[in-house]
Amino acid sequence: MRLDGGKTISIFVCTIDPKCFPMQMKSYLRFLTLFFAATLGLVGCGPAADKSEKKTRIICTTGMVSDLVKQVVGNDAVVNHVIPSGLDPHTYKPTPQDVSEIMSADIVVYSGIGLEAKLEEILDNYGKQEGHTVFSLGAALPDSALIYVENGHSVDPHFWFDLELWSLATTQVEMQLSEQMPDFQAVFKERARQYKDSLQDLKGWAQTQLSQIPADQRVLVTVHDAFSYFGQSFEIEVRGLLGISPELDAGVQDVSSLVDFLVENEIRAVFVEESLPTRTMEAVVAGCQTYGHKVLLGEKLYADNVGAEGTPQDTYIGMVKHNIQTIVSALK
Ligand SMILES: [Zn+2]
Repeated sequence: MRLDGGKTISIFVCTIDPKCFPMQMKSYLRFLTLFFAATLGLVGCGPAADKSEKKTRIICTTGMVSDLVKQVVGNDAVVNHVIPSGLDPHTYKPTPQDVSEIMSADIVVYSGIGLEAKLEEILDNYGKQEGHTVFSLGAALPDSALIYVENGHSVDPHFWFDLELWSLATTQVEMQLSEQMPDFQAVFKERARQYKDSLQDLKGWAQTQLSQIPADQRVLVTVHDAFSYFGQSFEIEVRGLLGISPELDAGVQDVSSLVDFLVENEIRAVFVEESLPTRTMEAVVAGCQTYGHKVLLGEKLYADNVGAEGTPQDTYIGMVKHNIQTIVSALK
């Protein structure tokens, strides 16, 4: 399907700390973007391929965003994502192949509000090009629903663990894609409705499961601060060893204060994450043992991305179910 008169939508939220984004990296991304933009421009001068018979190509950043888009478009578009499962989206650096995929897509969808920090310059450049559509799920959420950290200077990008916000993101995907692919408006609306019903069912199931955890154990300790929306939604206290972006290693002071907290509150379990190293949390468990307090190192949680394709966690719903079962079985 051709995107005739496709409107360029560029929503860009920059929360990158310049210290975490060296100049060499910026120059490299600028070079890649300009190179591929120039290449596509040259291709555009030749005999254009007939796009009318082709399906719309949608490129997403993470597998989670890709899953949401697929729920709405079904087989009516070709949907792929660039950040592989198991890799951390906060620190993921795009390859030339990723840039090529993004620059040649009809529509690009990303999670945004600071999650894909190293990709945002490319996404911004893509959005400025005529006929390209790019939108961020997080940027369209009501500001009042977002959690601000660091004295209000940064927004926490992990909104997907509030199922109501994921449902709002579903509506946004449906509306944005219906605008770009108007022939499919009715079917997109129906699929989005069904998916939002599934999210409501998932929320009810999650609440029932989490109610098995005793009141004094309703504390979720993870490697980085990815679960604040989850905690707010399900009334569970959350503690992360690292901040909202896991770029820095935990210091001795961070480990020591977390050990004190776990011992004082007799918390029974802590959790590691699929896309992050486990060594710092292992140090926390060892630290608790020196005080005679045994802490279980729980199974890996999926924080910033879905699981590998073919696993039960390769969808958003599968990922949330895995996390809930893992948390409940360790803390109940
Ligand atoms: Zn994260």
